[in-house]
Amino acid sequence: MTVFWCERAWLGAGRIEHGLLVEVTGDRIDKVVVGPSVPPPGSEALRGLVIPGLANVHSHCFQRALRGRTQRARGSFWTWREQMYELAQVLDPDSMLALARATFAEMALAGVTVVGEFHYLHFASGGTGYSDPNAMGAAVVRAAEEAGVRLTLLDACYLHGGIGAEVSLVQRRFRDRCVDAWLARVDRLDDGPMVRIGAAIHSVRAVDPDEAEVVASWAKSRGAALHAHVSEQPAENEACLAAYGATPTRVLERAGALSRRFTAVHSTHLSEADVGVLGGSGAFCCLCPTTERDLADGIGPASRLRRAGARLTLGSDSNAIIEPFEEARAVELDERLATGVRALHGGEDLLSAATVNGYESLGWRAGGVIRGGMLADLVAVRVDGVRLAGTPAGDLVDALVFAGAAADVSDVVVGGQIVVRDGRHVRIDVARELESAIKGVRS
Ligand SMILES: [Zn+2]
Repeated sequence: MTVFWCERAWLGAGRIEHGLLVEVTGDRIDKVVVGPSVPPPGSEALRGLVIPGLANVHSHCFQRALRGRTQRARGSFWTWREQMYELAQVLDPDSMLALARATFAEMALAGVTVVGEFHYLHFASGGTGYSDPNAMGAAVVRAAEEAGVRLTLLDACYLHGGIGAEVSLVQRRFRDRCVDAWLARVDRLDDGPMVRIGAAIHSVRAVDPDEAEVVASWAKSRGAALHAHVSEQPAENEACLAAYGATPTRVLERAGALSRRFTAVHSTHLSEADVGVLGGSGAFCCLCPTTERDLADGIGPASRLRRAGARLTLGSDSNAIIEPFEEARAVELDERLATGVRALHGGEDLLSAATVNGYESLGWRAGGVIRGGMLADLVAVRVDGVRLAGTPAGDLVDALVFAGAAADVSDVVVGGQIVVRDGRHVRIDVARELESAIKGVRS
């Protein structure tokens, strides 16, 4: 048994305990008890404020290599997508492993303990299969293991280049021959202690309604998480309405995709009816505000979604920046700009989106809360640095969410194992690996 002593720990519902002892056996918390104000002998001290591990619900890790390279070409999401496709052309399982490992390690440094990798880069250049049809997915799985973070591999079904359109040359790398080929490939993937396999419908652009139904029933039969990009751009809504006479949300609802295991990623351009449908199904909506602003997507109706019953989660998506607290506060701050109203989402609401909601949406139901029986995933944040110094204990959660940074994360524990200590990854020189991985894929 390992005992972690937390100088202060956030337990949810306004509770911050001082000197909390978290007793861990294997990868689970046995129990938590309020203990002494100094670390007892033999314990692992976690100073500052300890929060549950952070869930990064939506990532395309390879896009980390685009950072700083897409800021000059004027245009739209679709211009950016061309630049992203150029990068997708050159990756292979080895370069994917290196890039994913370094990117997941960067996430660990930021306090991310579980990541949802929305994975669609399945095949070799030109669309031919590797000898292992899951070679690229296996590289992502190995990368997460080596970086010490939990992973939900959301294997994306991607069959068309747009509604009624053939795939382009680059998109052949994403495309299974048909939905049955996707099923057969995904059936070969297995869960592990640190890995869950989930499903993704890439979008209504890439998957027809009848094919979406097949993916949704696979996820249902496995009790697996099901994610889809939903209404990120107005053009997707227009094409969907023209083809099916319904919004993407309605098309997915009719395909049986919506449930409490479903996550609508982005949910930016929703009709009022869409908001009601997503909320009524108890689905998650994953907002990715730093990417949505980077790609000029727009601002999603986060507070209306919450009022309707949807549960919010957060993702770093394109990894243009990896700052989980910035994703959290941007949900509130972007809505302030759009509505002229302050305090629609409280600090605790946003921290719950980043933790317990995110874990559940990725299929890890025993995570995201510091409590007996839950996964021993903990993040210690320094509160004596320049951003948070001077904050009264009762205001720490708001200060962390509205002013904290990845640089404030000092220690990260995943499944009872220390992955980050004093701001350093225990196994990986993250900056050096990022540099070499990104150099390896520069065109
Ligand atoms: Zn995405």
